[in-house]
Amino acid sequence: MQKTAIIIGAGPAGLTAAYELLKKTNIKPIVIEKSVHIGGISKTVNYKGNRIDIGGHRFFSKSDRVMKWWQEIDDNMLIRNRKSRIYFNRTFFDYPVSLSLQTIRGLGLFKTIKIGLSYIKQILLPIKKESNLEDFLINRFGRELYKTFFESYTEKVWGIPCDQISAAWGAQRIKGLSITKALLHIVKNMFTSKKNIEQKNVETTLIAQFLYPKHGPGQIWETVAEKINQMGGQIIMEHTLTSLNVKTDKIISVEIIDNKTHEIKTISGDYVFSSMPIRELVQALDEPIPKEIQAISDGLVYRDFITVGLLLDKLKIKEPDGSQIKDHWIYIQEPDVLVGRLQVFNNWSPYMAADKTKTWVGLEYFCTEGDKLWSMTEKELIDLAKKELAQIDIIDADNVLDATVIKQEKAYPAYFGTYNQFNTLKNYLNSYKNIYFIGRNGMHHYNNQDHSMLSAIKAVENIANNTIDKESVWNINTEKEYHESK
Ligand SMILES: Cc1cc2nc3c(=O)[nH]c(=O)nc-3n(C[C@H](O)[C@H](O)[C@H](O)COP(=O)(O)OP(=O)(O)OC[C@H]3O[C@@H](n4cnc5c(N)ncnc54)[C@H](O)[C@@H]3O)c2cc1C
Repeated sequence: MQKTAIIIGAGPAGLTAAYELLKKTNIKPIVIEKSVHIGGISKTVNYKGNRIDIGGHRFFSKSDRVMKWWQEIDDNMLIRNRKSRIYFNRTFFDYPVSLSLQTIRGLGLFKTIKIGLSYIKQILLPIKKESNLEDFLINRFGRELYKTFFESYTEKVWGIPCDQISAAWGAQRIKGLSITKALLHIVKNMFTSKKNIEQKNVETTLIAQFLYPKHGPGQIWETVAEKINQMGGQIIMEHTLTSLNVKTDKIISVEIIDNKTHEIKTISGDYVFSSMPIRELVQALDEPIPKEIQAISDGLVYRDFITVGLLLDKLKIKEPDGSQIKDHWIYIQEPDVLVGRLQVFNNWSPYMAADKTKTWVGLEYFCTEGDKLWSMTEKELIDLAKKELAQIDIIDADNVLDATVIKQEKAYPAYFGTYNQFNTLKNYLNSYKNIYFIGRNGMHHYNNQDHSMLSAIKAVENIANNTIDKESVWNINTEKEYHESK
């Protein structure tokens, strides 16, 4: 009889697992997806023909395998020259921060010298034990530069001070990047061609080019979903996994609930791949969990995310020649507003806007489910977005033609809460023999799409090779790799 694999979640990890199972094994994948969207956080939401990407997804990877995988699915992706800047003091600064005349002009000579001296001091007298993210950033950028360009944005993302965040997150996000490296990169760039998108030796934060599907990241994942259906897999949409039924050391079946009819169904499977948040997965196990494990799982923290899409006649900010700004996204470092980042979707792809003469932007707010921001109504959020962009001189509030709001729960698995005890939880979960933990929230790891996919590819490979080893899956994205650099 044909074996089946139950796959929780139709995001990049779950869909990759299904696709790879169909290509490499005889196992039938059944994907369970609770939302109406294919693609998870990498979906594209279509609002009246205007497409919203939940965060601006660059397609790049140091893994040739992933680069090829994507291009096998869509060989028509756009090649973009990355442009993103920091907006601070109503002025633009390069990102990564560069020592240019413009930077000196924006900061003023006194502040620039102060930043330089503080950086030199840090090189000579680094903090010996980096016990938190603040130490990590100060050691790499100096205290002054950290205070100017990193502190406010990072605290907006995580909602807590940087000295309460593990240094591990810095190691993931801006691993290897320092001023020295940034300067070396600039010099090297003067002598090398930008034609190919060979990215292996470039720190993530500095990657100059990336691929982007014409209609946003969701386009790739919708194509993958079609292929899965054509190849004999099954995707069950708008059903939420509520229970994993355990027999000794295996998951033998799962219960799913139809979101519309509330009908409960049981599906048996030989394997399970989970990309759902670990905290929820542990709650869904139908057997008593040791207290210690339950406490670690309950203590895992997530950050949530809101995007407010605004359709505009135009932005007030311009390139020096008066044309529309070229940035894909802008870090808003202004402490007097809550917005953390601004996406200019037209610049990711002109196909993202229904009317190419209009400007289609996304304001990003980082929050926690249930907090003040998360609880705001759609109208309140739109009013806030308009007010804030006008306040920092990016738009005229009466220039907004239309607007929408998207809330994305659990966008970021946090490296605080009980994360420092994660290994104990992981070892416990590994004791269930036939379940693989893949993806971002599935592994509670700050994975980009590529690592989410690689974890799925590895898990399928292990099954195909009759290897029970799970460490090789957990180890994806822990070393010699790079991460989302925003
Ligand atoms: C702001 C932001 C910017 C980003 N930028 C980039 C970038 O530039 N490049 C890049 O490569 N990556 C980027 N990422 C990361 C990328 O979004 C993720 O790595 C990727 O989407 C993770 O894939 P996944 O399949 O593991 O999880 P998800 O995308 O989270 O998908 C999981 C799926 O599981 C479903 N699910 C959850 N619980 C259940 C349940 N109980 N039952 C059924 N279904 C369930 C969810 O609805 C979801 O569809 C970014 C992320 C964020 C938040």
